[in-house]
Amino acid sequence: MLFDTIVGIATLRGISAINVIRVSGSDAIQIVAKLFDGKPLIEQPSHTVHYGHIVDEKTILDEVLVAIFREPRSFTSENVVEISTHGGYLIADKIVESLIKNGCRLAEPGEFTKRAYLNGRIDLTQAESIMDMVNAKTTTQLQIANQGLSGQVKNLISELQADLLTLMAKIEVNIDYPEYDDAITMTNAIIIPEATALIDKIDEVLVKSNTGKIIRDGLKTVIIGKPNVGKSSLLNTLLREEKAIVTEISGTTRDLIEGELNLGGILLKLIDTAGIRSTNDVVEKIGIDRAKKALNEADLVLLVLDQSQSLTDADKELLEMTKDKVRIIVGNKHDLGSNTDLDTVKMIRISAKNKTGIDILESEVKRLFIDEKLVGDQEVMLSNTRHIGKLKEAKKALQDAINGANNEYPVDMVEIDLRHAWDALGEITGENGTDTLISTLFSKFCLGK
Ligand code: GDP
Repeated sequence: MLFDTIVGIATLRGISAINVIRVSGSDAIQIVAKLFDGKPLIEQPSHTVHYGHIVDEKTILDEVLVAIFREPRSFTSENVVEISTHGGYLIADKIVESLIKNGCRLAEPGEFTKRAYLNGRIDLTQAESIMDMVNAKTTTQLQIANQGLSGQVKNLISELQADLLTLMAKIEVNIDYPEYDDAITMTNAIIIPEATALIDKIDEVLVKSNTGKIIRDGLKTVIIGKPNVGKSSLLNTLLREEKAIVTEISGTTRDLIEGELNLGGILLKLIDTAGIRSTNDVVEKIGIDRAKKALNEADLVLLVLDQSQSLTDADKELLEMTKDKVRIIVGNKHDLGSNTDLDTVKMIRISAKNKTGIDILESEVKRLFIDEKLVGDQEVMLSNTRHIGKLKEAKKALQDAINGANNEYPVDMVEIDLRHAWDALGEITGENGTDTLISTLFSKFCLGK
């Protein structure tokens, strides 16, 4: 494919040691060569680095290193030049301006990666993994992003596609050369077991994807409890820094409770529950609506009780309110001893103050959400909601095909469902992605990526 030549700053603007400017397109080397005072770049082989200066109309803009990657052995599969300049706000901008004056166009967000995709160097799942990698905040997130980037998700989908293709081919043959009088019955007899086997395979992938999705997206988590049980203290301990304001006066906590924290490799995204906490210890004043809304949104509830005291009505109300949620009851203030009242309540006993029991809390979160067997290098997991959604769509289409076959629908009607499954799989890898899908996905990238 032939595109114009684009330029973007790949690094964050600001005071730093270096900035990297990326140029990609058929004229990339020629354009940079016009501004480069050093070895003649046009004659230099691929994958080489050159020292020199960027000079525009006799003004030296910077002392730089220029790396050359010739097509197709580059990130975008096009000619790519990377210019390492000094850091700072001005230099890179000035050089980009000069490059534009000499024939480049400013890249859109994600356009380098989009070109890698459009030029067939990576598929859509790999492009999305690059973004996941950049956004990763935990090691496990990085691990699954790496799986995606190395093509493991792509291969997984390709295997399903291969099975489906075999099935579709068998049907085509039967339609073209019906050996039996009752071609419909015979063909449907092929479809049912093979489509069922394919659904089983998809189900295996979907089961694992629960863990993948949680690792990638994190858990929306709400910490609730009546005033003064130690929610802020727990948060502080989890954050391992004094971000929340801890107060001894009941109900006056004005803490940051929105934010993210990494609990044993799982990203907990805290939902603000200020409305639940900032009132007196009277359940009616709790702001039940607000509490319910926060609870509805939450994947995980950490319900904090003060285990050194008896359960109050407020505690009981909160216990009742959260009983259908995935929750962990956290019995705080274990250092003060435990009240025998609470012996029947299954809880994780901690002391936020002395920082004890936190590891048990971590393990409990993992136990509830993560299939540990899957968190290793061997297992490929889908984690991206878009991929999971498309895979479910493929499964549904296969189910429709089976139903049609069971009802002895004409084979070409059943085939429509199989094609639908095929299309859904193809949308995961981007083989048949629509223009809107492609532009929406890449617009989420950062500039210069
Ligand atoms: P919140 O209103 O639920 O956010 O409670 P805070 O975190 O503000 O804590 C209320 C009071 O309980 C403060 O005086 C804390 O120092 C104290 N506290 C919190 N956690 C513990 C704990 O584990 N043990 C003891 N002894 N006191 C604690």
